[in-house]
Amino acid sequence: MGEKKKAKAVIVGGSTAGVSCAHALISAGWDVVVLEKSSQPPRGSPTGAGLALDRQAINIIESWLPQPQLLQQTTLPLTIDQNQTADGEKEASRILTRDEDFNFRAAHWADLHGLLYNALPAEVFLWGHLYLSFRTSGDKTSVTVEAKALQTEEIIEINGDLLVAADGCLSQIRKTFLPDLKLRYSGYCAWRGVLDFSGNEDSETIRSIQRVYPDLGKCLYFDLRTGSHAVLYELLSKRLNWIWYVHQPEPEQKVILYSHPIL
Ligand SMILES: Cc1cc2nc3c(=O)[nH]c(=O)nc-3n(C[C@H](O)[C@H](O)[C@H](O)COP(=O)(O)OP(=O)(O)OC[C@H]3O[C@@H](n4cnc5c(N)ncnc54)[C@H](O)[C@@H]3O)c2cc1C
Repeated sequence: MGEKKKAKAVIVGGSTAGVSCAHALISAGWDVVVLEKSSQPPRGSPTGAGLALDRQAINIIESWLPQPQLLQQTTLPLTIDQNQTADGEKEASRILTRDEDFNFRAAHWADLHGLLYNALPAEVFLWGHLYLSFRTSGDKTSVTVEAKALQTEEIIEINGDLLVAADGCLSQIRKTFLPDLKLRYSGYCAWRGVLDFSGNEDSETIRSIQRVYPDLGKCLYFDLRTGSHAVLYELLSKRLNWIWYVHQPEPEQKVILYSHPIL
């Protein structure tokens, strides 16, 4: 009796930002519901992105987990950050900077998402729910969100005190506020992937890569060339995360453009 009702947040999008907001708000005493249009949690896959977590991110994520050591167990330490260059076909690679006190950890997107998602109460997530629109109350103290359950086509309404737009770089919610915002081209196109080399550890390809990048397994390599740059680091379970950036003018065709806040 006399207890204040918890404030409630409606989070749209259940990827990295969505699960992180859910943890942060629950830790701050909020009720949360996450609307995610994908039908189910992503399954661990050898493809996908690598994420390099700095010390602050590691501390925050650990504070959300009932078993903080799980973060250590699903990530690899990145203790070295090395920038190197080699211009021209014949020139050997030259080290520009080498930080041996890097203190990052390398995570695979699906592993990190699974860790954060599994640490949330199950009822928080509404999978297969497409956000449609929102309206605010006259006094702007509450928000009603309209969403569609994709399997049944049922339209539902959820009331909350806060709406969080975690619906990605093409956010539909942001468009409501900034309809004319044009995403800024970052100056390059990127090819990226994760190579699962388990079972092929002794192959000539992997041996050659390890010869050129001897500190793989603990080092984040940045290769800087004229007109391109590349990032390479190892993930847990014999996986290599690579990104190759090609600097070029903004392409004509419609592509998803994004700025790269982290690696
Ligand atoms: C090609 C590419 C490669 C990248 N590679 C890397 C990398 O190697 N390392 C790295 O750190 N970062 C990388 N990034 C950037 C990274 O992916 C993003 O910064 C990060 O995913 C953003 O997370 P997010 O949760 O904000 O958005 P997203 O991961 O985009 O998630 C948005 C979520 O919202 C959901 N959603 C969208 N609209 C609705 C709706 N109407 N209703 C319900 N749900 C909705 C989507 O299904 C999705 O789950 C890459 C980005 C791209 C495009």
